[in-house]
Amino acid sequence: METQLRKSDTLNILGELAAGIAHEIRNPMTALKGFIQLLENSTGDQYSLYFQVIKSELQRIDSIINEFLILAKPQVIKYVKEDISKIMKETVDLLTAQAVLHDVQFRTSYDESLPNLLCEPNQLKKVFINILKNAIEVMPKGGFVNVSINKAPGNMLHISIKDEGEGIPADKIEKLGEPFYTTKERGTGLGLMVSFKIIEEHGGTIEVESEVGHGTTFQLYLPITEETSD
Ligand code: ADP
Ligand code: MG
Repeated sequence: METQLRKSDTLNILGELAAGIAHEIRNPMTALKGFIQLLENSTGDQYSLYFQVIKSELQRIDSIINEFLILAKPQVIKYVKEDISKIMKETVDLLTAQAVLHDVQFRTSYDESLPNLLCEPNQLKKVFINILKNAIEVMPKGGFVNVSINKAPGNMLHISIKDEGEGIPADKIEKLGEPFYTTKERGTGLGLMVSFKIIEEHGGTIEVESEVGHGTTFQLYLPITEETSD
């Protein structure tokens, strides 16, 4: 397996600051969680609703910090040659239970002769998770999510993720990937920002097509370069 080290060149002062702050927030959070657990254990059921809210808000802070850290952390990313459809299959498996709960079914189709790509598998998985989760979340009545991976002209790998959700109005498409842009009550608005950044670092692009009331398709293109195909 061929490996290559690449230092992310998007690191900047702001990123370092954000990472510092995120770490500083984590320590008091841990203390808070511990004491809240103790309080809950000693007060019985009387305030269980309050504790539910407190814990879900803490969870929310946690997920914001985690997504923020991915962005901010100075990263030496280890690129390896990997089968993208394998990463996608793992992601689909991971989310199947959540999908079933929402009456959502995945339909997958992978080109048989796909070359391996030089990539950071965990980062790509993060992207797939974000996009598939969004797809599940926009289909409250259930439906299909179609996932396909093919070769595309221009020596590209084309990953398509198509949902049958509410769609995105044309004037909102450009907002996707902006930090904290969310239309969800419990959203962080960071998932797509992280995803765009990761795909960009892989030399790829993301295109979004959507029709309100019908659904949305995320098209990811990743370059197959000489060194990355085998
Ligand atoms: P979050 O999921 O926390 O809201 P994201 O960055 O993942 O943050 O997504 C930002 C916003 O983009 C969502 O709140 C939603 O409005 C919109 N969006 C993303 N994916 C889809 C999709 N498949 N269908 C419709 N809207 C979407
Ligand atoms: Mg999301």
